[in-house]
Amino acid sequence: MTSPDSGDQTVLIAGAGIGGLTAALALGRTGRPVTVLERRTKVEEVGAGIQLSPNASRLLIDLGLGPALSRAAGEPKRLVIRNGESGRTLAEMPLADAMRQRYGAPYYVVHRADLQTILLDAVRGLPNVRLQFGRTVSSVDTEGDGVTVAVETASGPETARGALLIGADGLWSRVAAAIGDHTEADFTGYVAWRATIPVGDVPPLFQKPETGLWLGPGAHIVHYPIRGGQVVNVVAIMKDREAERGWSRPGDAETQRRRFRNWAPELSGLLSRMDQWLVWSLFDRGPRETWTSGRVVLLGDAAHPVLPLLAQGGALAIEDVAVLSRELARTPGDVPGALRAYEARRRPRAKRVQAASRANATNYHLSGPFGLVRNVVLGRLSGTRLIDRYDWLYGWKPEAD
Ligand SMILES: Cc1cc2nc3c(=O)[nH]c(=O)nc-3n(C[C@H](O)[C@H](O)[C@H](O)COP(=O)(O)OP(=O)(O)OC[C@H]3O[C@@H](n4cnc5c(N)ncnc54)[C@H](O)[C@@H]3O)c2cc1C
Repeated sequence: MTSPDSGDQTVLIAGAGIGGLTAALALGRTGRPVTVLERRTKVEEVGAGIQLSPNASRLLIDLGLGPALSRAAGEPKRLVIRNGESGRTLAEMPLADAMRQRYGAPYYVVHRADLQTILLDAVRGLPNVRLQFGRTVSSVDTEGDGVTVAVETASGPETARGALLIGADGLWSRVAAAIGDHTEADFTGYVAWRATIPVGDVPPLFQKPETGLWLGPGAHIVHYPIRGGQVVNVVAIMKDREAERGWSRPGDAETQRRRFRNWAPELSGLLSRMDQWLVWSLFDRGPRETWTSGRVVLLGDAAHPVLPLLAQGGALAIEDVAVLSRELARTPGDVPGALRAYEARRRPRAKRVQAASRANATNYHLSGPFGLVRNVVLGRLSGTRLIDRYDWLYGWKPEAD
């Protein structure tokens, strides 16, 4: 066994996803030694976009990422909600300027690979942060006044020691299991199909600097431009019987076209040009019983996965980091106390966002008379009244809860 790390102040982070990298950046900027242990041998993001609402973008900007984000990300002018079957516009909500004015931060859309590069570059710029790939955290020993983790590598086992361990290791968290939570996430009955397509290949309606949301029976589709408007990101979420855990799998474009053949012709026109889909089964769980044990803490999907129907899973992970780093700074001499305070502050928020995302899963996919009622209600909402409904979500600040 080798011991790649030691020292009381070191923060160990399992996972280099959005949550783990943001945590490395936030804590690394305080000067603390940080070691990130990532299972994958290199980090490669899926070819898809991500929305960063003002509650998250504001925090990344506070971490010094503003200039890089403003170069890589876009700001759709509005969200247009349409009836998926008729193509009729049901409601519009202003985004770009309205979001900045109301929440003091942008509503960004960005390619995941670009966000990851921005986070990685920032983390790599901190000499006190070590990024270690090909390291799988397998077990955790919380005896004494530190944490020791067992790490699997291609060249044999290692251990790492630090003052605390952050489990940012996603939905199937090994760190959660190591602190006693062995509950498994459940298949939701939904799958997400994701694809990107060059803007020149899509019908004009999909070339606009807008986010489109098409609602229909048992499914919805979201699209927005990324990479300076050169690429359109398309996500379709729908019911499915099959569950496949872990990595994405290729989706058959013909099946997808058949699934939406009775939807609006504009949408069928888009789908007829899309050939390369990747499919994820969507799993869900309530917040875990415990996010902390002594000097071990969970954040992001490891603590509270969120269905992608409110575009908040990554945002919540970023919020978690803001609160966790504040609590650690507030009581530096009492790590377990800081972790408990973090959990207490984050639990209600995570629960609320999870519930709102699940409610959207029902609401977005209504059919028959229920779908009609939803459409009528949406049609009566002005853009401003639509935004009002999101104040609790997008207006969140770390000092708020
Ligand atoms: C279709 C879809 C669309 C979405 N859209 C949005 C959106 O628009 N906006 C938004 O905010 N969110 C969105 N999300 C949610 C968002 O992607 C996730 O919530 C977010 O990526 C979670 O980040 P994380 O860092 O907590 O976990 P992950 O991204 O899962 O990262 C976990 C990391 O830990 C590593 N790891 C796992 N086990 C170990 C181990 N034992 N040891 C070491 N490393 C380990 C993994 O390799 C991985 O790199 C979407 C999700 C989906 C499926």
